[in-house]
Amino acid sequence: MAQNDTPTPSHFIRDIIEEHNKINRFGGKVITRFPPEPNGYLHIGHAKAICLDFGMAKEYGGRCHLRFDDTNPTKEEQEYVDSIMEDVRWLGFDWGKHLYFASDYFDRLYDYAVQLIKAGKAYVDDLSADEIREYRGTLTAPGKGSPYRNRSVEENLDLFARMRAGEFPDGSKTLRAKIDMASPNLNMRDPVMYRIRKAEHHRTGDKWCIYPMYDWAHGQSDSIEGITHSMCTLEYEDHRPLYDWYLDQLGIHHPQQIEFARLNLTYTLMSKRRLLTLVEKGHVTGWDDPRMPTLAGLRRRGYTPEAIRDFCERIGVAKSNSTVDIALLEHCLREDLNKRAPRMMAVLRPLKLVIENYPEDQVEELEAVNNPEDPSAGTRQAPFSRVLYIEQDDFRENPPKKYFRLFPGNEVRLRYAYIVKCTGVVKDEKTGEIIEVRCTYDPATKSGSGQEGKKVKGTIHWVSAAQAIPAEVRLYDHLFTKPNPDEVEGGQDFTVNINSNSLETLPSSRLEPSLAGATPGNFYQFERQGYFCVDAKDSSSARLVFNRTVTLRDTWAKIEKKDGK
Ligand code: ATP
Ligand code: MG
Repeated sequence: MAQNDTPTPSHFIRDIIEEHNKINRFGGKVITRFPPEPNGYLHIGHAKAICLDFGMAKEYGGRCHLRFDDTNPTKEEQEYVDSIMEDVRWLGFDWGKHLYFASDYFDRLYDYAVQLIKAGKAYVDDLSADEIREYRGTLTAPGKGSPYRNRSVEENLDLFARMRAGEFPDGSKTLRAKIDMASPNLNMRDPVMYRIRKAEHHRTGDKWCIYPMYDWAHGQSDSIEGITHSMCTLEYEDHRPLYDWYLDQLGIHHPQQIEFARLNLTYTLMSKRRLLTLVEKGHVTGWDDPRMPTLAGLRRRGYTPEAIRDFCERIGVAKSNSTVDIALLEHCLREDLNKRAPRMMAVLRPLKLVIENYPEDQVEELEAVNNPEDPSAGTRQAPFSRVLYIEQDDFRENPPKKYFRLFPGNEVRLRYAYIVKCTGVVKDEKTGEIIEVRCTYDPATKSGSGQEGKKVKGTIHWVSAAQAIPAEVRLYDHLFTKPNPDEVEGGQDFTVNINSNSLETLPSSRLEPSLAGATPGNFYQFERQGYFCVDAKDSSSARLVFNRTVTLRDTWAKIEKKDGK
């Protein structure tokens, strides 16, 4: 049980493990694995699987392996292996010495295949991929046996050895399991176990020219590692009978496979293939683009591992597919950052504010609270002077109704400072654009002085122009315009739903000087603007770049309130 005051709600996987422990199915052991294919970066959906695989093992005093299911030589790369290890560690999990690769088992898998051939349970087929598909039949029509199905054991052993030795061209032969061409489960209609592919593998080099199919490798890899509970997503439910068949034929350790619903999120796509398309077609700047649902992207955006783990805990584990509102993920993030992010003042779209009656060369250090949620975070000094920057949005020459910020004749409080009254504006002679707002201040209204004087309706943030640090600030919106990015008209693909306004770059923001030492990995709340972090890739001492992690508007909290949760 999790070590906090609210007990973790149970779920069916925990129930299954409890039952196994009760009947002593695996001697009380819980050994799980997270088995990514290294053909892309991990995404938030993988985080759900990681939290479950590592979480269950930890909860029951077992262990979780990290195993790369690297059976496909042409799509897999070391870059992906490295990023996956980095991301799992970042999320807070540790596989210890239990790092494995399915490719380490290629010899054993080959021997297992020979064992099946000898038992008359596998044969070498000369049908092409297209013919195999045609012979397989459909959900309503049974398949028919390949003409090569009844080759003798000797012939199959000889051909399989020669396949391995590289005697035959790619695609000319396969090794297939001999199961049942009339099975209602298409996976059982003599599935392919090996194909010939003369391709270099990222770990085994050119040692092999035949490669095991995922379905042939996966269950046996679990078995070899002594996995007890093999958790995977629902689409593998129909493959379980096949995995069971292989293990039973071979007579080796038999893990329990348990399927759960994959995570789907609104405004988000999670297939690695689609994410690769976004990267390759240049719709994003890379796998770690802060708009990507990859762990690398979320990290760069400013997401914390704590928030992601909390999210995975809250969504729970179920047996039927559903889509989670992305507002919940953002809510978990706000809850985490609210507790620990220091508040700062930053003006994203600056407009000059000149205080006419403030002494020209005076600079006051004003006390600002670091985090109202955390008194131990203390206070800091913010310089105040005659020329400030405020947000363009906080001034209107012609204010709409209920506008309580600055406009000619109106008064507002400058956060941690004084009340100022707007006296007029200066406009660019040519364009008519407002380039400066003028005001006067009332020295008797200093914040925290005990004599703040009258109350005003608006409080706005500011930075002192001379001391402010210039920065580029990047604001993000969802990468897709539709809650379901897959919703397209006939013939279109998901890229038509890409949000062309998902990134807004503000090149001339101004930050209060306390942010001078900001480095990646620190989180801040810019008052009234949201949570921000330094961009780990593009920021430098010469040019600070901040990402907005998330705004302050919590739509999820509103939904919860409305539902009376
Ligand atoms: P994708 O469809 O995104 O390419 P995948 O299933 O092919 O994902 P793998 O690398 O095979 O990716 O996944 C490793 C593990 O993560 C598997 O156990 C898989 O079931 C799980 N997983 C993948 N996507 C999700 C998801 N959206 N929600 C929960 N678990 C997932
Ligand atoms: Mg997969």
